[in-house]
This record gives sequence, structure tokens and C-alpha cells, in this order.
Amino acid sequence: MRKAIFGGTFDPIHVGHLHIAYEALYNLKLDKVIFMPSGNPPHKVNRVVTAAEIRYEMVEAAISKEPLFEIDDYEINNSNLSYTYKTMEYFNNLESQTDWYFLTGVDSLMDLKKWRNVDILLENCNLAVFSRPGYTHEDIVQMKNYIEKTYKKEIMYLEIPVLDISSTVIKEKIKLSRQIDYLLPCGVQEVIERYHIYK
Ligand code: ATP
Ligand code: MG
Repeated sequence: MRKAIFGGTFDPIHVGHLHIAYEALYNLKLDKVIFMPSGNPPHKVNRVVTAAEIRYEMVEAAISKEPLFEIDDYEINNSNLSYTYKTMEYFNNLESQTDWYFLTGVDSLMDLKKWRNVDILLENCNLAVFSRPGYTHEDIVQMKNYIEKTYKKEIMYLEIPVLDISSTVIKEKIKLSRQIDYLLPCGVQEVIERYHIYK
């Protein structure tokens, strides 16, 4: 089996996330993409993050129509800070016959020097990187080369059309009472309204 974990704060999940999950599924010929909402993201400790249970519910609603998308609460149930290397080590030990991938946008990859135990992470999975607005092809290739040289492991760079959408922009639009229907997957807005978040 070939499976990917797609980690994120998902505050909220948006169509940009589903777009890359689908492209990963298709291009990497995966059997599953497992969405992993972070419990306590180390890089967002100084920011207000919506309760994990609500972020989980939004992801659940967003992926409900796609049988090859799943959700897992491993990081949410872990009260410690969520570190990707620990998550991948856990899943790789659990299913060592599976080929594991970790999906990430290039903005997160550019912070790789701040990631904990990248060597352990790369022993336990393949990294698949997606472009995001704000980064040139050269930026990405340079980072890819640096990682491959440093850690002696190939990483995958998937060049797919980018969608210039972020959770931050969606929250700003909600504050301004702007329309966000077309940026959110089905069912997510209903959860946002039910919990009165982002107002
Ligand atoms: P925020 O604005 O709060 O940082 P975000 O839109 O970046 O939100 P995250 O939950 O931080 O969403 O992202 C989870 C993962 O998805 C990261 O690896 C990020 O790079 C990637 N990602 C998010 N949006 C996009 C997008 N539009 N295109 C490509 N990758 C994306
Ligand atoms: Mg982000």
C-alpha cells in the first residue's frame, strides 16, 4: 500500500488543501490520503488556533465524499506539541509494509531548518512538496537540492497549478462578512456557523 499523511492546522480546511490532496493521490498513485489535524502546532504557539475538535469536525465534513481521503486524530490526542517526525515514526512502525509519504506545501518546506529531527522524518517517509504562490521554481529546486544533499534522500516536487488560497485569507474574509462559499469544501461553512468561529 502507498499512503500519505497530510498534516496541517486546517483552521479552516479549504479547497487548496483538497486540491493538493487529490493531486497527490493521482500523481503518486496513493491508496489513501490521511488528513492529520495538528494538536498543538509548534510553529503556531503564539497564535490563536481554533479548538482541535472543531478543526477536526471541519476536516471530517470536507472529506466525507471522497472514500480515499481519511482523517486521523493521532496528533490531536497527543497533548505534546505535534512534531511531524514523531507522527511519521509512529505510523511507519504501525504499518511498516506501507510506503509512507508526507505532503507539504513549499512554504512549510522553506522552514525545514526549524523542523525537528529531519533525518528521522526522512527515514520514515518520502516528502512530497507542492508549490505555493510566492515561491519561484528556482527557490524550490534550490531547497530540494539542499535537502537531498544534506540528508541523502530524494524528495518529490509535484508541479501542479497553484491555488492562491490560505486559511488566513479566508478568516480575514469572514471578518469582513465577505462571501467564502466558493473557497470552502462542502459542509465546512455549516460547521463554522454552528460554532460561531472566526467572527
Ligand atoms: P494558514 O494561513 O493559517 O497558515 P494555510 O492555508 O497555510 O493556513 P495550513 O493548515 O497551514 O493552511 O496548511 C497545511 C499544509 O497545506 C501546509 O503544508 C501548507 O503548505 C499546505 N497548503 C495550504 N494551502 C495551500 C495551497 N493553497 N496550495 C498548496 N499548499 C497549501
Ligand atoms: Mg500555513
